[in-house]
Amino acid sequence: MPKKKILFLHPLGENWIPGEQNVVQVINIMAPLGLLSLAAWLDQHGHETKVHDCYAFPGRDDSIYAYLKEECPDFVGISTTTSSFLDGVRLAKAAKEILPSVQVVFGGVHVSALRDQLLRDYPVIDYGVVGEGEETLRELVESDGAGLRSIEGLIFREKGEVVFNGMRTRLLDMDTLPFPAYEKLQGFPDSYLLPIFSYPKAPSTTVITSRGCPYTCSYCDRSVFGRSYRYNSPEYMVRYLTYLQENFNIKHVNIYDDTFTLKRQRMIDFCELKIKSGLKMTFNCAARTEQLDQEMLKLLKRSGCWMISLGIETGDPELLKRHRSYLPNAELEHPLENIRQMVKLIKREGIRVKGLFMLGLPGETEESIKKSAEYILALPLDDMNISKLTPFPGAPMYADIREHGEFEETWGLMNAANFTFIPKGFTREQLERLHSEIYRRYFARPKTLLNYVTMIWKSPDSWRRFWKDLPTFLSFTRKK
Ligand code: SF4
Repeated sequence: MPKKKILFLHPLGENWIPGEQNVVQVINIMAPLGLLSLAAWLDQHGHETKVHDCYAFPGRDDSIYAYLKEECPDFVGISTTTSSFLDGVRLAKAAKEILPSVQVVFGGVHVSALRDQLLRDYPVIDYGVVGEGEETLRELVESDGAGLRSIEGLIFREKGEVVFNGMRTRLLDMDTLPFPAYEKLQGFPDSYLLPIFSYPKAPSTTVITSRGCPYTCSYCDRSVFGRSYRYNSPEYMVRYLTYLQENFNIKHVNIYDDTFTLKRQRMIDFCELKIKSGLKMTFNCAARTEQLDQEMLKLLKRSGCWMISLGIETGDPELLKRHRSYLPNAELEHPLENIRQMVKLIKREGIRVKGLFMLGLPGETEESIKKSAEYILALPLDDMNISKLTPFPGAPMYADIREHGEFEETWGLMNAANFTFIPKGFTREQLERLHSEIYRRYFARPKTLLNYVTMIWKSPDSWRRFWKDLPTFLSFTRKK
C-alpha cells in the first residue's frame, strides 16, 4: 500500500462576538482531539500526517501554504464546527489554488449534520466524512479513488451526483485506537490552555475516553457519534493518562466525555485502578447528578477528581422538563432539587463544582430567566458559565426552531457566544441585557470574589494567566 501524505487543518473560524476581542482565545485553547486521533490512526497504518491548528496559531496560514508547496500532500483533511466551517472552505480554496491535485476532505460535526447538502453547495469539498472518521478516512486514503461506494460514512461525487453511503455500521473498539497524536501540535502542551481557574496545576490537557450519548436533549448535536455509547476500558484510561504524564509532564486532565458518569462500574474501576497505579494526576469530569452518590464522590475525590461540571441548563423546572432528556425509568420528580442537593454533596466531599447553563431556549420567558438567575445565585457553585442557546443543525430542536422565535442562521456566529435565536416575546437587546445581568450579579457577590481569591493557592497558574491578560479580561467585563 503506497504511503499517502495528509495535511490536517483545524480552522480558526469566528469563535466570538463580532467586533470584540476574542476572550475565549485567552481563556481556553483546547487540543483538536478529533484530528489528533485521525492523525495517530493514519500514522499507525503507515501514512504520513501533519497537523496545523489555526485556532491555536491564528495568522500563520503562510506555513500551511509553504507545506502544500514543499510537501505536496495527497489530501487535506479539515475538521470544522458550524462556526468554523466557512473558514475551512476558505482554507480549502487556498489549498486547491496552490496545489490543484490535492483532494479535500471535510469532517466534524457540521458535515455530520448537513451531509450531502454541503458537497452540493461547496464544490471545493471533494469528500465528506460523516460520523466516526478513523476507518472511513483510512479506507478513502487507501482507495486510490476505486470502490468508493463501499466506504461507509463517506460522501463523494459520482457522475456529477453527490452520493452518501450511509452511516458506518462497523465501529471501532475504542481500545484499539492509538493515543491522539498530541506531539504533532506545535508547542504542546504549553500552547494549549484549559479554561482559566479550572485546573490546579499546569501543564494540563484534555482527553476523551468515550463516544456517543444515549440521551436526546433538545439543544445537543449528537450527529458525529450518535446515541450508541462506546468507551475505553479503565485499563486503557490509566495507560493513556500515564502516557501523558511520562511524555509531556501533564499534571492535570480535563476528561471531556459527554457522559463520563453513565457507566457506574467503569467509573469505579477507573478510579480504583488509578489509585492503585500511584499516578499523581488530577482530573475534571462532567456528570449528570442522578448518576452520582456519596460513595462515588468519595472515590472520585480519592482518585484525584478536582472539579465536576454539571450541565444544569436552566433554573426553570418546566423548561428543563421540555428540553433535557432522561433515560426511561430514570426521570426525576424534582430534578432541580436533586441538582441542588448534589452540588452540596460534591462540595462536602472536597470537589469543586462548575454549573453550565444556557439562556434563550424555545419557551424562555422573562419569568423563566428570573428563576434561572435566582437558582444560579442560590447554588454554592465554584464556577459557572451561561452560554447563549445556539440551534445547531444536528440538534433535535433545529427541525422546528423557527416556530418558536426568530433564527438567524449565520454559521459564523453560531458559537454559543451570540444569540442567533431569539425566542418569541424577546428582543436581542433584552436577552443580552438579562444575560449580562446574571453575570454581574454573580460576580458582584463577595463570596464569588473570595472564591477566586482562594485560587491564588489552589490554581496559581490561572492567576499568572489572569494577570498576564488583565487588559483583555477588563475590557470583557466592562462590556458585561
Ligand atoms: S446534553 Fe449531555 S446528556 Fe444531553 S444529549 Fe448532549 S451529551 Fe447527552
